[in-house]
This record gives sequence, structure tokens and C-alpha cells, in this order.
Amino acid sequence: MSVFDHKAYDNHEQVAFFHDAKSGLKAIIAVHNTNLGPALGGCRMWPYASSEEALTDVLRLSKGMSYKSAMANLKLGGGKSVIIGDPRKDKSEAMMLAMGDFIQQLGGKYITAEDSGIAVSDLQLMAQRSQFIAGTQAKFRYDGGEADGNPAPSTAYGVFVGLRASVRHALGSDLNGVKVAIQGLGHVGYRLAEHLHNEGAKLYVTDIYPDNLDRAAQELGATVVSPDEIFGLDVDVFAPCAMGAIINDNSLSLLKAKVVAGAANNQLAEERHGQMLQERGILYAPDYVINAGGVIDIYHQKMDSSADAMRKHIEGIGDTLVEIYQRAEQQGLPTNLEANQMAEERFLAE
Ligand code: NAD
Repeated sequence: MSVFDHKAYDNHEQVAFFHDAKSGLKAIIAVHNTNLGPALGGCRMWPYASSEEALTDVLRLSKGMSYKSAMANLKLGGGKSVIIGDPRKDKSEAMMLAMGDFIQQLGGKYITAEDSGIAVSDLQLMAQRSQFIAGTQAKFRYDGGEADGNPAPSTAYGVFVGLRASVRHALGSDLNGVKVAIQGLGHVGYRLAEHLHNEGAKLYVTDIYPDNLDRAAQELGATVVSPDEIFGLDVDVFAPCAMGAIINDNSLSLLKAKVVAGAANNQLAEERHGQMLQERGILYAPDYVINAGGVIDIYHQKMDSSADAMRKHIEGIGDTLVEIYQRAEQQGLPTNLEANQMAEERFLAE
């Protein structure tokens, strides 16, 4: 199949294929749009069943980054790369060095970072061959704490700020006494729970592993529920922080929350579920807007900026969400479609 005819092509500026016979590297870099700046997006290594599957994934992911960066007010475009292979079996030092060569060949049009199957140590190898690698080391944290290279604290803080702004918009209140159901207490979900607890929110939490649940019950006074129960709780906010496609026909029939605001990527199973949320009077914080704290973190680290500038930038997520909500109301659009429209206005207009 030709790339130009691919269903996910969507006017990508450049799609580059790379094969290094010595290391066995087979990789694709997709650059969706660079009107706002160089295309930043992680490198994913995955045992794709076919090159067609890898191409579809990289095209979709790279387009998503154009929207995310534009709505995060970053002077960055959208791109992504994929390496075809099993990260536990097929990865080698030579392969990561070859990937660095590949990225360097694009001359800065694409900047990579971490994604599934790629660790900071892999990025450090790529950085031996290319200066267009981000996320190789973290120098500061948004709150002045010690940075450990994980962008999750910034993501969690952005989700917290965005959730607070969404509650204020939908319910006209602060977080004190507001009931929040959190699905997934991982790197982001647990930190979000801590922020919410500090503001007086009442927490209901679930996960498929017990470790963090016990901790949340003891330290944050959270009520632990089963993974199936989390959707139908009588709460104000549902915060998906586990996996995607979680807003679907089934979960929508159960939801009682008035706000959906969480970290997970691709929360809507299909775009039409955004309209269903709107029809049911549930305010939806578009996922790629509210979870942009991580990419904002990576940007500030790469630019040698400061913790203070990073924190202020992350706090802008709340203002962006309010702008989306107000415009969506004026135009009668679901918030997911309003966000897409605003992002396109930004990256297509330059
Ligand atoms: P994580 O793997 O640390 O945490 C996910 C948690 O969800 C785990 O504790 C897991 O056990 C739990 N979980 C999985 N399936 C579940 C289920 N069916 N029911 C309940 N819990 C379940 O991941 P993370 O880094 O915290 O990221 C969470 C989400 O946010 C993911 O969708 C991720 O793509 C997205 N995200 C993360 C970042 C980041 O900086 N880490 C940035 C943007 C978006």
C-alpha cells in the first residue's frame, strides 16, 4: 500500500523508513506537521505483526502529537517513531546507535523521547549519534523537588490543575468534599490522588494490583472499590488513569459523575462518545489537553529552562481547558471536537 493512500496518512509532511542490516533495525519516523516547530514525539518499540501495523500506529501517534503540542502552547510540531521488534528480545546497543543515526539524518525536523519499550538508557545511546534526542536527563522538577527523569509528577500535576478547573467550571466549587473516582493508581494516578487529598477531595480508588490501594486507603483515607464498581459510583468526578477506550457504550450507561478528567490516553473509544458525554451533561476534559504535563516537562528540560517556568506552563492547562469549555458551549460542540478544532486553528494557521 502507498503511504499517500493510507487511511491514517492525513497530510503527513514526511514519512521515513530506515533499515540497518548490521543491527537489524527496522524503523519508521512520521512527521505530521512542523508549522509550530520541530516535531517532538516518543520512540516506541513494539513487536508489530506487520509493517502495515507499524505504519498505522506511527501515523496515528504522530498526528496526535500535533494536537497535543499545539494545545499545550508549545512551539513544537507532531511526530513519532516506531521500531519494529520485541524490546525484551530484539533490542541491542548497535540498534539504538543506528536509531540515533536515523534521527540525525532528518536534521532536527524530528526530536525523539521515551515511549513504550524505550528506556532512558536507550535514549542516551541514541544521543551519542544525534543531538535531537530529548528526555535523556532531567535537571529539575516542576515543584523544585529532586528530578528522577520520570515526567509522571508533571503529568499528575497537570491533571490535578485541569481537574480542579473542570470542577470549578461544571460544579462551581473548589475540591473540598468533592468525590473523585480514580481508575488506576500507577505513576500518575497515585500522585493525582495525593494532590486531590491535600485539597480535601474524597477519594474512591481502584487498580488491578493491591499494593497502591492499601497505601491509598491508609495514607489518603481512600475508599477502595473493585475495577468493575468504579464506573457506577455516585461521585462528582471520574478520573481515568489506567488505559484507553474507557469511555464507551458500556461505561457511559453506568457513569453518574458530572466530570470526566484523567490522565489516560485515548479515553474515548470513538469520537462519538464525546457527543454522548455532552448529551448526558457530563463535562469531558479532552485527554491530550489535560495530560500534557509530561510533554511540557520534556520540552523545558530540553530547553534548559527552569522549574518555575515549567510549573507556570503546566498550570496553563487549566486556562486552556476553560477556553475549550467556553467555546464548546458557544458553538454547541462536544469538548473533544472543540479541542481538535482549536488545535487545527493553531497548527494549520502558522
Ligand atoms: P502506570 O502503568 O504506572 O499506571 C497504570 C495503572 O493502572 C497501574 O497501576 C495498573 O495496574 C492500573 N490498571 C491497569 N488496568 C486496570 C484496570 N482494568 N482497572 C484498574 N486499574 C488498572 O501508567 P501511568 O504512567 O500512571 O499512566 C497512566 C495513564 O496515563 C496511561 O494511559 C498513560 O498512557 C497516560 N499518560 C501517562 C503519562 C506519564 O507521564 N506517565 C503522560 C501522558 C499520559
